[in-house]
Amino acid sequence: MSGRDADVLVVGAGLSGLSAARALAAGGARVLVLEARERVGGRTAIAHPREGVGLDLGGTWIGPTQERVVALARELGVPTFAQHGEGENLLELDGRLRRYRGTIPRVGPLTLLDLGRLQAGFGHLARRVDPEAPWASRHAAALDSLTVADWLRRRRHGRRARALLTIAGRTVWGSEPEELSLLYAAAYAGAAGGMEALLDTEGGAQHWRLEGGAVELSRRLAEPLGDALRLETPVHALRRDADGVRAETPAGTLSAERAVVALPPPLAAGIAFEPALPAAARGETWRMGTLTKCFAVYPEPFWRRDGLSGEALSDRGPATITFDVSPPGPPGGPGVLVGFVGGDDARALARLEPAARRARVLDGFARLFGPAALRAEDWAEQAWAAERWSGGAPVAVAPPGALTAIGPALREPLDRLHWAGTERSARWPGYLEGAVRAGERAAHDVLAAL
Ligand SMILES: Cc1cc2nc3c(=O)[nH]c(=O)nc-3n(C[C@H](O)[C@H](O)[C@H](O)COP(=O)(O)OP(=O)(O)OC[C@H]3O[C@@H](n4cnc5c(N)ncnc54)[C@H](O)[C@@H]3O)c2cc1C
Repeated sequence: MSGRDADVLVVGAGLSGLSAARALAAGGARVLVLEARERVGGRTAIAHPREGVGLDLGGTWIGPTQERVVALARELGVPTFAQHGEGENLLELDGRLRRYRGTIPRVGPLTLLDLGRLQAGFGHLARRVDPEAPWASRHAAALDSLTVADWLRRRRHGRRARALLTIAGRTVWGSEPEELSLLYAAAYAGAAGGMEALLDTEGGAQHWRLEGGAVELSRRLAEPLGDALRLETPVHALRRDADGVRAETPAGTLSAERAVVALPPPLAAGIAFEPALPAAARGETWRMGTLTKCFAVYPEPFWRRDGLSGEALSDRGPATITFDVSPPGPPGGPGVLVGFVGGDDARALARLEPAARRARVLDGFARLFGPAALRAEDWAEQAWAAERWSGGAPVAVAPPGALTAIGPALREPLDRLHWAGTERSARWPGYLEGAVRAGERAAHDVLAAL
């Protein structure tokens, strides 16, 4: 090791960096994990407003087609439980409240036709884009020059279908249709197996929750690292030369043969690289989405008595999607509703005082679930855009031009630098699954190179 601090420096102790560290250690490499925050888990975190109630402030669910994260949970002994889905879902659209079952809301026949056309059109697009190399797909440049909003306009979709896609996009990407490259959105959906997989509860991305919260995966991965994990150690600069890599941190300089940068592209762009990265590899045009999660805790999940699942879509918001995230266990315990406030709604909510934010979100819950929703006993919110070491959530998104500009540099190592973080995965980017895959892939490449 010739006086180096480690064989490999891993920058970022989110699920991706920690998955990389685990695979590297299993391959016999000496790793040092450098994490800016005072905790591990990055975009996963848990809050306990009271005993027995754990709130997943960030990433929460996993699903049956997410093979690596499902296997990891099993290997680490983190039990899963099914997302509560019994009962009818709600749709608030154009001032009307409707009940429905499954993923497709019950709307008028014309809207239903339009929604079917929207789904088919988007599905067709997603299948035409290669998730491994979207920038090399046919018509990539043309698709990357358009936004999702342009596409909706060109196809003359009706107002309601557009409203439903906007609602979905605010939670899936924390972004408005105007902010998303069409190529990026199509590749993202394709990499998950289709838009339905992103939105479905049963069988889709919202199938299971994890006991102790999703952050439990990162906590368990961090345990065996001991002193090899350095918290409160942000990396400001990364230098590379023929000898190896050196990371500059407030605690001094650390050296290794190679480094895995396990950060979303906009945060990686905040590191001073020497020599500077080529323009294509910088990722600085990617932007973090804006997503706030709001939680209301009640004496019981009262909506279940009305035959409701707690799942709702609303075009009025500010929470445009809600779920029942009550603690698992026998009936009689507390009930918890989570509301997702994304995109423009999240930016508007952030401008209000805390009491007004709570009142606005609870008003929305009451329109959906009745006046009992106003009587929350506990309240919590997490605005990810205000988190210095995330800068937003749930994922870094590519505006027009950004995906074709970065191209293969999104994933390919550069000299002694390897890239991880969920955004770099070719399957389920943006999700816990993508984080594990990107970390494991980077570790595999590093081990082959060492
Ligand atoms: C509100 C929300 C809801 C979500 N819901 C789901 C869901 O239900 N299911 C799902 O699968 N996914 C969900 N996600 C996405 C999921 O949480 C992420 O895909 C995943 O956690 C990303 O892991 P990561 O390791 O790639 O990145 P991160 O978790 O962002 O890890 C990066 C780490 O790097 C650290 N860092 C940043 N800069 C530096 C630096 N300069 N030096 C050192 N360290 C640095 C950060 O502190 C962080 O710990 C959600 C995310 C959010 C925020």
